[in-house]
Amino acid sequence: SVRVRFAPSPTGPFHIGGARSALFNWLFARRYGGTFIVRIEDTDMERSTKESEENILAALRWLGMDWDEGVEVGGPHGPYRQTERLGIYREYIEHLLQEGLAYRCYCTEEELAAERDALLKKGEMPRYLGRCRNLSPEEQSWLEAAGRQPVIRFRVPEGKVVNVNDLVRGDVSFECNGIGDFIILKSDGIPTYNFAVVVDDHLMSVSHVIRAEEHLPNTPRQILLYEALGWPSPEFAHVSLILGKDRSKMSKRHGATAVEQYQEKGYLPEALDNFLALLGWSPGGEEEILTIEALKQQFSLERVAKSPAVFDLDKLNWLNGHYIRQAPLGEITDLAIPYLEKAGYITTPLSQPKYEWVKMVVDAVREYLTCLSEITGHVAFFFADMIEVKENEAKEILSGEQVPAVLAALRNKVAGSGELTNSEAKLLLKEVGKETGFKGKQVFMPVRVALTGSTHGPELNQVMVILGKDKIYSRLDRALD
Ligand code: GLU
Repeated sequence: SVRVRFAPSPTGPFHIGGARSALFNWLFARRYGGTFIVRIEDTDMERSTKESEENILAALRWLGMDWDEGVEVGGPHGPYRQTERLGIYREYIEHLLQEGLAYRCYCTEEELAAERDALLKKGEMPRYLGRCRNLSPEEQSWLEAAGRQPVIRFRVPEGKVVNVNDLVRGDVSFECNGIGDFIILKSDGIPTYNFAVVVDDHLMSVSHVIRAEEHLPNTPRQILLYEALGWPSPEFAHVSLILGKDRSKMSKRHGATAVEQYQEKGYLPEALDNFLALLGWSPGGEEEILTIEALKQQFSLERVAKSPAVFDLDKLNWLNGHYIRQAPLGEITDLAIPYLEKAGYITTPLSQPKYEWVKMVVDAVREYLTCLSEITGHVAFFFADMIEVKENEAKEILSGEQVPAVLAALRNKVAGSGELTNSEAKLLLKEVGKETGFKGKQVFMPVRVALTGSTHGPELNQVMVILGKDKIYSRLDRALD
């Protein structure tokens, strides 16, 4: 059965690359009725924080992912936080030591640095050459007596080639001779990533390891550990790097890299999921708009590309705009309210009539938005008491010869009308044209500028309904002044 995991290191902001890995694992589990596990890899005690862990978990939930086993939800293979599993690792370290498959290494930082430099000078890959591989028990006791704290290294078999049959990248082979005996337990008793990940993936019965391509060089080390421990390896699938549009590795230079930043800007989780899914995976057909449900039904590793994925912000914006227009108005309004409040336009809680009014505002402008935070730049004139006409083009429009007649006619029409509705407002504008003998732009533009201060914006009839009669009067009067 399919059992996959997302195993973040909680050492900083949650990168979109991490979210992509999580999503691929989650979709894979959901597509095949499998189990999705969330494990926290916090063995880097200096850099790991509870805050980062909480951010990651909150972001996963925000993106709509749920997990069947893992931190917070528990499960039969726990604990799911590596620092709570130190005793488990110790057991397998002992086993490897007893079998002679691992050994204590007493080399100092200085000794290791000198070895590295010497190799680099000869033009060779830096690696551990095995100075402590065959220490006698006497040599070990001298070194311990001298106060040296050992690390545990894995004895990499000599002359062997390790094959990785990667489900995305195909067959990749690595020469053991280039690897060097690597550390599996640090002198403080904390395991290294490569060791802990193998023990955990095995004990948690992980069937497929789906992760970023940067971990491919770790894979032969992990396969050697599986072999040494007598365990079968899971399947591996390494997903390509994410590049910026200039084809260099995606970084802050290319825009926001943290999931949280997208959430703050008002991207919808549906849009981000859709976008992340297409970073390296593609559906069979041409369709680019894919809901979570569609993704869950269609995702497969066969359609994950080998070539790097390019992060295209324009595409994300396009998708987000689509989801903003598609979502139920009430939902978008609720999401927009915090931005309006932060900008000082409203204070919550809103009364029911005020909420209904804000809904109309959101409805009028949502088609212009690529993300929700942009809403504040489109709605100022709805909330202001007085509007300022700043653009030169707009000022010019108000100085047109026909303007006083048009605005005065509109004022009369509004005063003589019943409740303003969209169709009623449309009708009034038409009648103003008929009555004054001016047409099209000559009517609409001065009315637009008088009511909104600008030459562009939402539908004029919608603007009139939202402003209401009192604001229409005061703005027309001011423009007529
Ligand atoms: N903790 C590792 C990381 O965040 C997990 C890598 C893996 O999936 O094996 O990169």
